Amino acid sequence: MTPAYVALGSNLGEPAAQLCRAVSALAALPDCTLDKLSSVYSSAALGPGTQPDYLNAVVRLQTQLTPLELLDALQRIEQGQGRVRDTRWGPRTLDLDLLLYGRRTIDTQRLAIPHPRMQQRHFVLYPLCEISGKDLEFPNGATLETYLRQCPAEGLVKTQHQLRADTPTHSKSH
Ligand code: ATP
Ligand code: CA
Ligand code: CA
Repeated sequence: MTPAYVALGSNLGEPAAQLCRAVSALAALPDCTLDKLSSVYSSAALGPGTQPDYLNAVVRLQTQLTPLELLDALQRIEQGQGRVRDTRWGPRTLDLDLLLYGRRTIDTQRLAIPHPRMQQRHFVLYPLCEISGKDLEFPNGATLETYLRQCPAEGLVKTQHQLRADTPTHSKSH
């Protein structure tokens, strides 16, 4: 089993409900165990134009899927929740980014791990820290603490929403 951290984000279609649905889907993935869930955070959208605020969270899976199998599974879950890919960084019902997969480094167009923009994003680093601790090591040997020091938490608000799996839509296949 390899620990994999996944970032969840939504700013359309009842974001809190979207995140709970996504958690159910992640918990139901074969060869994966969902073992940690962060709090849910709110922040202003970074993308183009005026967009609704985002809700974000980070979870940890213990997985036997390969990184690409896991990315495929994440993209299927996004699509199942009505993700439409049009404007880059436009509003979306659900975004699932694979942040880290053990200590692996992958640098292809389809999949880059660690996620190349995570170090600058407070809405990723702070929820990640909540579940991993600040001593989490990146493949380059840097710790999460180093990145947190360079990324102020201003504008990031911890909400009262709870990330919990809602009624599973399908059960595990084993
Ligand atoms: P950002 O990557 O800056 O957060 P985004 O999440 O809006 O932007 P998407 O449109 O969701 O970007 O994804 C574009 C492509 O990024 C996907 O089709 C996927 O193949 C690729 N990708 C590369 N690395 C990753 C990763 N670590 N996690 C998720 N997708 C990735
Ligand atoms: Ca993203
Ligand atoms: Ca994405």
